[in-house]
Amino acid sequence: VQNSEPILKLSNVGKSFGGLRAVDEVDLVIRKGELHCLIGPNGAGKSTIFKMIMGIFDPSDGQILYKGKSLAHMKKWDRFKEGISIKMQVPGVFGDLTVYENLRIAAQRTYSKKALEEKINYLLEEFNLTHLKGETVNNLSHGQQQSLEMGMAIANDPTLLLLDEPVAGMGPEETQFISNLIKKINNNGITILFIDHDMEFVRSLAQQVTVLHLGKKFAEGTIEDIENNEKVVEIYLGQ
Ligand code: ADP
Ligand code: MG
Repeated sequence: VQNSEPILKLSNVGKSFGGLRAVDEVDLVIRKGELHCLIGPNGAGKSTIFKMIMGIFDPSDGQILYKGKSLAHMKKWDRFKEGISIKMQVPGVFGDLTVYENLRIAAQRTYSKKALEEKINYLLEEFNLTHLKGETVNNLSHGQQQSLEMGMAIANDPTLLLLDEPVAGMGPEETQFISNLIKKINNNGITILFIDHDMEFVRSLAQQVTVLHLGKKFAEGTIEDIENNEKVVEIYLGQ
């Protein structure tokens, strides 16, 4: 993984909201097959970076390359078709629909009916949701909804999966379950960039960590590098 080709490359990326510089001069390389974590205190600009990758916001400066091509002017839907998938911080499930219906919507790029059913059954199994297939999503626990969302995020076989705080609000058991799931998805060849602030969780997963602080890249390295970096410890203690 260490020397594999970059899938995503941010060069000097910035984003201003009026007078606020939310993201500033960020360089970031995500390599094929990597499980890469973006951490940093609240308001550091992490979610804004995801939104620029997805096309929800355009960068104010700099360039984002995906598989060597600039994402500028590429519509959200086209980015999705090119294999970029996201699980946002706010839930993106359809609460009034069933688990099955949610997965069917998410897997809509699977054209044949048979393949679609197989895909949905696979996701139900993989995400521990088979017994909840016909359940209305609003009746699911927080953790079950998160699992469903993860299923929806990989339903179209993405190349690059972005996860924004996938275990936020979860207990230890659910966190463990999602952690194993992320490893499994990554082992299946999907490159993952995830955002979190729980060091324990990050330690269990990430190969490569980038720390963001006040919109800027603050540190980068393996989880060991980051945990032994006194400056990183300081910005976290300062919270
Ligand atoms: P993080 O995900 O690291 O907690 P965000 O990327 O959500 O941080 O936010 C970075 C900064 O940008 C924060 O100060 C936030 O208030 C601001 N911000 C984010 N989105 C918007 C927006 N749509 N309009 C104005 N300010 C925003
Ligand atoms: Mg955020």
